[in-house]
Amino acid sequence: MGEAPSQSVETDGPQRTPVENVVIIGSGPAGYTAAIYAARANLNPLLITGFQAGGIPGGQLMTTTHVENYPGFPDGILGPELMDRMKAQSVRWGTHLVEADAERVDLSVRPFRIHTSEAQTIHAHTLILATGASANRLHLPQEERFWSRGISACAICDGATPQFRREELAVVGGGDSACEEAVYLTKYGSHVHLIVRSDRLRASAAMADRVLANPAISLHWNRELLDVAGGGAAGDADWLGSIILRDRIGGGTENLPVRGLFYAIGHTPNTSLLQGQIPLDERGYLVTRPGRPETELDGVFAAGDVADAEWRQGITAAASGCQAALAAERWLSHHGLAVTVRREVVEPAPAGEPMRTLESDADNYNPEALWQKGAYALRKLYHDSPKPLLVVYTSPSCGPCHVLKPQLKRVLQELESRAQGVEIDIEADPEIALQAGVNGTPTVQLFLAKEMKQQWRGVKQRREFRDAIEALTPPA
Ligand code: NDP
Repeated sequence: MGEAPSQSVETDGPQRTPVENVVIIGSGPAGYTAAIYAARANLNPLLITGFQAGGIPGGQLMTTTHVENYPGFPDGILGPELMDRMKAQSVRWGTHLVEADAERVDLSVRPFRIHTSEAQTIHAHTLILATGASANRLHLPQEERFWSRGISACAICDGATPQFRREELAVVGGGDSACEEAVYLTKYGSHVHLIVRSDRLRASAAMADRVLANPAISLHWNRELLDVAGGGAAGDADWLGSIILRDRIGGGTENLPVRGLFYAIGHTPNTSLLQGQIPLDERGYLVTRPGRPETELDGVFAAGDVADAEWRQGITAAASGCQAALAAERWLSHHGLAVTVRREVVEPAPAGEPMRTLESDADNYNPEALWQKGAYALRKLYHDSPKPLLVVYTSPSCGPCHVLKPQLKRVLQELESRAQGVEIDIEADPEIALQAGVNGTPTVQLFLAKEMKQQWRGVKQRREFRDAIEALTPPA
């Protein structure tokens, strides 16, 4: 496509135009990089972060620990922190974020239409699809029964759960995720079994070496997981007690006693939103021109894992986000459709570093504070506060916790001191988590007058928490 001069119209501020220049769906490295480039091209991009469909905002790096292969961070960086930085960079340059799921798109009309879970309809000249991929499940016969009761799809989120401490645990898979999770779980479990369906690890050599050199990890080659069962030596029939394995070479089966089972068996592209709208390949991946971001639909571009079954790295996703934004800019320019913004301030203010909440103790505890951290604050507020109390149980590297906490703080701010919040790190306070019956993070419990009124597992929409608190505290 040639580079015809843009007939762009300029608007004075970041207000929205009736038709967006470029809408990006997805908030992983691909989506945020596309947003950074589109924002710096003064295209005033709108990015739909996604919320529950297809995983959490920030994408798959939100459920990893140390990312050691992203250039520019010689000592590595935590996945959620890397995503925070990309988000801050895109916002600093003027990206407008919509914290919702894209529920439906209509690509048969121009401008394209995108319908969100917040009942918005957004019109767009160009669309960048960066919806990524979601973790697979095995769908074992007894999987539902033991889901969150020993089985988890996220070792990084749930590993610190008290029920897993000093117990034998298993991870199934042979890729980088499985290896990373097996190593991570040795922090908590007494021993980790890695169940591999073939006779080789698909993981990078550096990651595989870490697993092979770790005496706390045993490899079970050529094993297929047939089912799971409860009970075992610890006796609790409602919690996972063992897994049943089949030897794919010898044919025999064995019962391996474990209290935790973690899935790391790859991903499926998040394209259900696009079914019937745009060509997908036989595995559900978006079809693009070879090595390029253009899809088969003019004005629709793909970035990241949604169109990449092969490389699937943070850095390749980011690079394709850059390509998609540049291609969208050219497309808008060629069609004379770009409505660019004029910046009043050429250099936006620095994004700054995120604020951390300090653990409350007898010296700094504040009975009126909206948000505090730790066992001391929980005990005081639980016994003394007349207001609804939102308790969020987190663990240090849990990406979904990272997404949820600012949402909860926002709810409390919006409710103007009608409720208070406390954060409990279950790694620092495992006995509190055990008492509260918490078996994964994030878990949120809502209390009033020492009575638990409601509990949520995982990331939920803000309005669910707001509605529950409002039901307990009708406005005066
Ligand atoms: P992968 O697709 O790389 O690996 C999936 C693994 O699960 C494979 O070993 C596969 O076996 C196995 N598997 C698939 N289905 C089943 C099944 N039904 N039963 C048993 N085993 C099964 O996924 P990952 O999530 O590990 O990695 C995704 C991408 O993210 C990769 O590009 C990876 O490099 C990257 N990554 C990087 C990290 C880092 O750098 N810190 C951390 C985590 C991921 P088989 O090999 O036989 O097909």
